[in-house]
Amino acid sequence: MQHDCIFCKIVNRDIPAKIIYEDEYVIAFPDVSPAAPVHILVIPKRHIPNLTEVSPEDAALMGHIMTTIPKIAAEAGLADNGFRTVINTKDDGGQTVHHLHCHVLGGRFMKWPPG
Ligand code: AMP
Repeated sequence: MQHDCIFCKIVNRDIPAKIIYEDEYVIAFPDVSPAAPVHILVIPKRHIPNLTEVSPEDAALMGHIMTTIPKIAAEAGLADNGFRTVINTKDDGGQTVHHLHCHVLGGRFMKWPPG
């Protein structure tokens, strides 16, 4: 738990979010400023600032996140048409919240390349 981290506060229930999935290692909740009809954030409960801070000991956790995302996406109705998964890292990646999170975006066609 990092005390000035908004996502740690969501994990801790210090600030509200509509938690749509939770297990021992991750939680998922809708993005407060959705960029698509469905926009879900999937985050590790443990505070990891970004992908550059992930270590080999986190391999199981990262694998767990990746295998959980399609289940969450299916629950959100995205299984048939698909979805986009994005991890923004540091400034050039456009990261604004410094607690590792995967964006799951769907409900419309996603253009490529991103801006
Ligand atoms: P990023 O720019 O990749 O760091 O993404 C951070 C995301 O967190 C943005 O899409 C924000 O809209 C979202 N966000 C920030 N605060 C909250 C919050 N309290 N609840 C849900 N989503 C949030």
